[in-house]
Amino acid sequence: MNAITLPSSRAYNIIDHSYDVVVVGAGGSGLRATLGMVAAGLKTACITKVFPTRSHTVAAQGGIGAALGNMAEDNWRWHMYDTVKGSDWLGDQDAIEYMCREAVPAIQELEHFGVPFSRTEDGRIYQRPFGGHMSDYGKAPVPRACAAADRTGHAILHTLYQQSLKHNAEFFVEYFALDLIMDEEGACRGVTAWCLEDGTIHRFRANMVVLATGGYGRAYLSCTSAHTCTGDGGGMAMRAGIPTQDMEFVQFHPTGIFPAGCLLTEGCRGEGGYLTNAEGERFMERYAPTAKDLASRDVVSRSMTIEINEGRGCGPNKDHIMMHLEHIGADLLHERLPGISETARVFAGVDVTKEPVPVLPTVHYNMGGIPTNYHGEVLRPTAANPDAVVPGLMAVGEAACVSVHGANRLGTNSLLDLVVFGRAAAQRAATLIHPGDKVAPLPDRAGEQSLDRLDRVRHANGGTRVSTMRDELQRTMQAHAAVFRNSASLTEGVGKMERLWSGLSDMAVSDRSLIWNSDLMEALEYENLIANGVVTMVSAEARKESRGAQAHDDFPDRDDQNWMQHTVSYLDPADGSVALGYRPVRMQTLTNEVSVFPPKKRVY
Ligand SMILES: Cc1cc2nc3c(=O)[nH]c(=O)nc-3n(C[C@H](O)[C@H](O)[C@H](O)COP(=O)(O)OP(=O)(O)OC[C@H]3O[C@@H](n4cnc5c(N)ncnc54)[C@H](O)[C@@H]3O)c2cc1C
Repeated sequence: MNAITLPSSRAYNIIDHSYDVVVVGAGGSGLRATLGMVAAGLKTACITKVFPTRSHTVAAQGGIGAALGNMAEDNWRWHMYDTVKGSDWLGDQDAIEYMCREAVPAIQELEHFGVPFSRTEDGRIYQRPFGGHMSDYGKAPVPRACAAADRTGHAILHTLYQQSLKHNAEFFVEYFALDLIMDEEGACRGVTAWCLEDGTIHRFRANMVVLATGGYGRAYLSCTSAHTCTGDGGGMAMRAGIPTQDMEFVQFHPTGIFPAGCLLTEGCRGEGGYLTNAEGERFMERYAPTAKDLASRDVVSRSMTIEINEGRGCGPNKDHIMMHLEHIGADLLHERLPGISETARVFAGVDVTKEPVPVLPTVHYNMGGIPTNYHGEVLRPTAANPDAVVPGLMAVGEAACVSVHGANRLGTNSLLDLVVFGRAAAQRAATLIHPGDKVAPLPDRAGEQSLDRLDRVRHANGGTRVSTMRDELQRTMQAHAAVFRNSASLTEGVGKMERLWSGLSDMAVSDRSLIWNSDLMEALEYENLIANGVVTMVSAEARKESRGAQAHDDFPDRDDQNWMQHTVSYLDPADGSVALGYRPVRMQTLTNEVSVFPPKKRVY
């Protein structure tokens, strides 16, 4: 045990640990990375603020994409083309090639690990169509989403947890990671964490730290994400001087249940569900004549919003759209979509076998995150080298921006991203570090800044409760970084975010204890949420074009000349100011088995 006395003259006792690798997060990406690390013989700790199988990945419903071709002819090159097109040409094509090609062995591996996929008559993995996934470079929808009914994430997460235990990964459950420990050369050396159960403070040192902390959907008022999705990894990275990338691209899922916001998977439309407006019209036929209801998410969300804005919304307030499943038949719904049938009953009081469900676009996914290459190594671009890596640090899953999703993610490509890049990170780590390599001791006062922050928040005695601040943040994000954006509203949004940031100094935390102090934890999460929110708003305000999830009324067209580049945002944690830079999209492939897809107009 080591004690650190802070400038406030309060002292904290520290418990030190040493590992080859520390993974922060036990969702699909964190567990796939952990499993790969331990299987490679690396002594690995996995720190998680919730029990592993409660991570948001458990809620993933519809499927995981791979061109297995079990139900119809398919090809990973078509999957790659769809992903590039879905990204609105902001995705890095080498990373997309890697993901779509590696999808096939990565899913076969999951099958061998024991994931209970649904099956075809002849025993192969069942696959269903999903938005934007087409055959033959965009011709017609193809069944590519490997599914375990509508509980695919649940099946994958439980299997990966069992496999990690089998390989003796060490779990630190209900430990809240606070900050990265960086050295003077800018390399990552470890992480600090607070044990929620007994209030102890821990310092983990490691030769590799992997951030796998998920997205920050909870920066919005209406979202499909769990309450734990607060962007803690992004917050930790930004406080350590590491940038985030493409944060303006926030995905709205077309079918959140109205008004609760819980998700009804795109698999509903994959199984034949469709949307109608107040006139009973299947309006998607007008917006996307080929793909119709299976156009990609940004396209469907915008079309729904236009229908509502033009007065064709359903209900007394004309404020939602209807999704129909009743024609599919009770037996098939029971077999393929049992989870959403229950969700619709509980949250909308609707029996999906008899009547349509009210839906509305709801925040669902963050395309932006901590920039990495396709090995999972975190990037801190410099003028000389846009691909410079941060030694000792990786990021995977929704917390990262590889970037395979660019400006808009296709459904099923996130679960895929988790397993492909979780696996890639472990493969890379095994070449960079070796079991038993010396882990250099940390300087005595390492982590002091982090403790100082914990102490400041714990003793915050201002006048505004965290719940009030968070509510205001969520309303600001919902109103100003919405499905449709414009310059006036974004400028106003940036101003509101600046005021919210200065409001941090008036924070009130009433419980000073360290044991199961949810008041303190929510305050720490709020600091991470607002950091993610600020860079999102500033990046959106700066991008003067429409691309993927950024639909800008004043700049309705995509501008490849000036804007086919990644936004790189640096937050100054002292005052909340943001400095933006840009990084070229990687228009190259890894092998000559496929060529780069040059930009063209995106129609479905
Ligand atoms: C309702 C819903 C349905 C979806 N359906 C699909 C689908 O069908 N197909 C698809 O491809 N994608 C789907 N997605 C998207 C996909 O599920 C997520 O993007 C993905 O699961 C995120 O996984 P992750 O490993 O990055 O993080 P998560 O699963 O969110 O896990 C984050 C982990 O980090 C830990 N953590 C976070 N902060 C800290 C901290 N400070 N200290 C310690 N630990 C911390 C948490 O405890 C948790 O273990 C869906 C998403 C939602 C919300």
